[in-house]
Amino acid sequence: MQSQICPQCKTESANDASICSNCFFPFNGTDKEKGVFIAQQIRNKSKVKDAAHGIKTAQIALIIISFFNGIAIVFLQNQIEIMAQFVFFILLVIATLLVTKKPVLVLSIVLSFFGLLYILMLLFDRNLFIQGLFWKVATIISLGYGLNSVLAARKAEQISPYLAEQSTEKRTPKKRDDILD
Ligand SMILES: [Zn+2]
Repeated sequence: MQSQICPQCKTESANDASICSNCFFPFNGTDKEKGVFIAQQIRNKSKVKDAAHGIKTAQIALIIISFFNGIAIVFLQNQIEIMAQFVFFILLVIATLLVTKKPVLVLSIVLSFFGLLYILMLLFDRNLFIQGLFWKVATIISLGYGLNSVLAARKAEQISPYLAEQSTEKRTPKKRDDILD
């Protein structure tokens, strides 16, 4: 049987196939349909790339948050407060380490936690809420941006298993590079 090569992903498909078995490229589509498909793939690919950038931004935010919460321990006097702050610091370090592996889970938990904390401050201790308000806003925005970009990429990957495969292939070596950097 003769075969045809997909112009997008270079995978071989049977000659009578109407779409590529790997990336769903429409072999029998009109030029316009092919163009639309490729444009869609490019958009989805950039979403997958944005996710990697979003995770990195969120991780940097977590490193900064962990750092300041670690330093805060030094300024506490009360034994119970020191213990609580230390536990909080350790949890933040764990979140920082796990965010590249389970970004949606980790970012959802951390975002809900900080969101709840800030709402409680707003309700019960206005002064504490206003203190360092810029950092609170920056925390929510950077973590939220990370979560949002990962979710957008997941959606794009669901549409195209081919992209999902590509992204997992690319993500693993990328993560290693990040650590070496
Ligand atoms: Zn293909």
